[in-house]
Amino acid sequence: MEAAMERQIDSAGELMKEFIDTVLGLYRHIGEEDVLRQADGETLQRLLSRGIPREGRPVDEVYREMLSDVYTKNALVQHPRCFACIPSPVSLFSWMGDVMTNAFDPHAGCRMNASAAGCVEEALVRWMCGLAGYPDGCGGLFVSGGSMANLTALTAARDAKLSDAERASAVAYVSDQTHSSIAKGLHIIGFRADQVRKVPSDAAFRMDAGALRAAIAEDSAAGKKPFAVIATAGTTNTGSIDPLPEIAAICRAYGLWMHVDGAFGASVLLSKRYRHLLSGIELSDSLSWDAHKWLMQTYGCSVVLLRDQAHLLRSFAVHPEYLKDAGAFNQSPDFWDLGPELTRPARSLKLWLTLQVIGSEGMGRAIEHGYAMADFAAQLVRQQPDWEIVSPAQQGIVCFRFAPAGVPAHRLDRINQEIAHEITQSGYAQVLTTELRGRKVLRLCTLNPETTPEDIRATVARLVKSRAAAKGRGSEEAHAKKKVS
Ligand SMILES: *Cc1c(COP(=O)(O)O)cnc(C)c1O
Repeated sequence: MEAAMERQIDSAGELMKEFIDTVLGLYRHIGEEDVLRQADGETLQRLLSRGIPREGRPVDEVYREMLSDVYTKNALVQHPRCFACIPSPVSLFSWMGDVMTNAFDPHAGCRMNASAAGCVEEALVRWMCGLAGYPDGCGGLFVSGGSMANLTALTAARDAKLSDAERASAVAYVSDQTHSSIAKGLHIIGFRADQVRKVPSDAAFRMDAGALRAAIAEDSAAGKKPFAVIATAGTTNTGSIDPLPEIAAICRAYGLWMHVDGAFGASVLLSKRYRHLLSGIELSDSLSWDAHKWLMQTYGCSVVLLRDQAHLLRSFAVHPEYLKDAGAFNQSPDFWDLGPELTRPARSLKLWLTLQVIGSEGMGRAIEHGYAMADFAAQLVRQQPDWEIVSPAQQGIVCFRFAPAGVPAHRLDRINQEIAHEITQSGYAQVLTTELRGRKVLRLCTLNPETTPEDIRATVARLVKSRAAAKGRGSEEAHAKKKVS
């Protein structure tokens, strides 16, 4: 056994060192790489047909094959011109923490096996609860992502607010901008689609509090059982923040659970300059917060926070016979009793490492840079005739589109789609569309602290000059000529 380990260290060790140098080399020049790197058909076919060998192969052969066929054939989400989805601008310190965590692989399910890692998790949860303004008795858990954080919080909400008999007539309230993971989570925990009521958003894509109040009153009068409102702090489409104080007041008046989906936007709590935008968040019952979005972490790092941790225990604590010994090691609850997972990685360690190195104010400044870049993009777009801002720069997101007069709506949708496709396909920048009020728009999400004004300037210039936009202008001229003749 020892000899085998010895041999593995000899053969894998050198490659692991080489790998680190290779990746560091990539990071040094990441801006020169294509954002969208995809495997060609031949590579995919090779991977599919490889199968698992009966006897093992030399590790250096496997290493080189995986480096060239797998690891270097995916979109570079940490690229400074990756503006699509909510990108994941990863701090090198997160990667470092991830490597260290994987190397030791602590089991963070219970305190016995992760006394120190568990302590770090608890310290981070407490610190993040403090930023959210939660009182004593609060708590939470690191989970794999915003979807799991939402699912965990919604389960706690259901169990806190509804008896078994009430579940069938219960209603949860979302807006037309709420992330799809909420409906998915509610479905998983047993609610029908008609139990999720979509409240319209206002002109600024914020949940309309008046419409929410009316919907709750209407459902109550009809014998239904409103139980939760899901507010969003930083919607995925536009970065808008729902009116949290108003929603909190409505929840208090009707005795409803208030969940805030801050998967994307809760990180703004670290910005001295912008955190006032989230005021009211301290009145919520639960909060989802993705560290793998705007806290510069590698994937699989999110937290769900509860104003009262006891709700998590009520929903998730189970005590099978084979875990009784482990549980006897501590006073505070084990992590496996606070959420759906039993075995779980120590996800918080990389965030801890990153924050120790960068500091909370350094992180706040990195977040503020995202605001500045989106503002700058908006300013450039506004200077372009035929282009319009559809949703102003907020929380590092701006939505806009090419919209020359006289071109029919369905054609504009197609042209904007083509503009996004063209720049993304070129590898220079990744830009995708979203839909706002039925119109296709381009969306730049500028969260990466390494993104420069020059990146923004060059990206907007390419969008404006794209062939698709030129064609659109052509059709506009043709249209104008036809009118004249
Ligand atoms: C990204 C996002 C989610 C989902 O989070 P995952 O980490 O992708 O599971 C939920 N809500 C909002 C507002 C988001 O932006």
